[in-house]
Amino acid sequence: MRQNRPIWVIVWRKAALERVKFGFAESSVERAPNSYKLLGGLEMKAVVLEAYHHPFAIREVEIGDPQPREVTVAVKAVGLCLTDVHIHEGKIPTVKLPLIPGHEFAGVIAKTGSEVKGLRPGDRVVVNIDVTCGSCDHCLRGETNRCSNLIRIGFERNGGMAEYVNVPAANLEPIAPNVSFEKAAILPDAVATTYRAMKTIGEVGPGTKVAILGIGGLGMQGIRIGKLLGAYVACTSRNDEKLEMARDLGADQVINTKRDRFLDVVGKTIGSFDVVIDNIGTPQSVSDAVKACRNGGRVVEVGYVEPVLEAPFYDVVIKEKQILGSRASTRSEFREVVSLVNAGKLDPHIGELIPIDRVNQALQDLKSGKFLTRGVLVLPFS
Ligand SMILES: [Zn+2]
Ligand SMILES: [Zn+2]
Repeated sequence: MRQNRPIWVIVWRKAALERVKFGFAESSVERAPNSYKLLGGLEMKAVVLEAYHHPFAIREVEIGDPQPREVTVAVKAVGLCLTDVHIHEGKIPTVKLPLIPGHEFAGVIAKTGSEVKGLRPGDRVVVNIDVTCGSCDHCLRGETNRCSNLIRIGFERNGGMAEYVNVPAANLEPIAPNVSFEKAAILPDAVATTYRAMKTIGEVGPGTKVAILGIGGLGMQGIRIGKLLGAYVACTSRNDEKLEMARDLGADQVINTKRDRFLDVVGKTIGSFDVVIDNIGTPQSVSDAVKACRNGGRVVEVGYVEPVLEAPFYDVVIKEKQILGSRASTRSEFREVVSLVNAGKLDPHIGELIPIDRVNQALQDLKSGKFLTRGVLVLPFS
């Protein structure tokens, strides 16, 4: 506990109090019954988004004890995602400010709620993003990523860019001692999202010819996942450094789309693909993905830029090519990913490790495309 509170902490708390009174906490309590209390309890440092487009503030705030079925996680590492840029720019309508962002993170349990069993302070854990209702049609079918009452940690409730975060105990998976917090941090999104897109939606398996369009935080994981599943993996980028990294990760074919037209190269070399994973989501990438796909093949759309775009419709109907959306991962896919990593079968690929105090610079670097792969913010705060 910190003793002497600087004046700005008090001012922020007063503002927080007013939000509690005038809407923020009320609506968040309604939407997320287990969300943070801003008042009472443990004092901590946190990255707070207080206004869209403005730099994140690093504040001292308080969190309450975990609810009976929650645990308090002491965060050690948190992945930085392009969606954090979208949140920062106010593009996610369900986000309400102030918000502590951070939707993929790992740490150790600091405290457990009164009804939590089988978890203890000191346990190393990674946290699933989706807080699901467990009772809607989708949840009952195990399609937890489609839950009708979905609340996401780091979106609709506070996330992991903080010393501590309260999360439902049901969202935790233990991580093995040989897996670093930095690598574990990116499992909930970068790795699990790609795993679902490739294995479940793309049905990638032994001998599948798969192309990954756009290799960044997610695409790089896709190379290792594709090789683990026994596929032939090609990937595209406009950046030679990224393509070199892709080769090192095991890509069978790399194509620089700044120099070569993707469809020309594909036509001259491997022919068509069984599956194309499109991490870009522009009219050009969707068109390329559909064209590069064999008759009856699958295009899996992971990235998106615009709400509506054109696609080569004849290919879809006459050649039976499927365009499929893939979002995040189900609880069971997440568990599968964690166990593959715990068993040493899948190695998450991380890039720069950035002290969390430099979160604003890191966000700018992410925006300007400086990161070749997933960057991870590391705690403690200075
Ligand atoms: Zn994300
Ligand atoms: Zn549900």
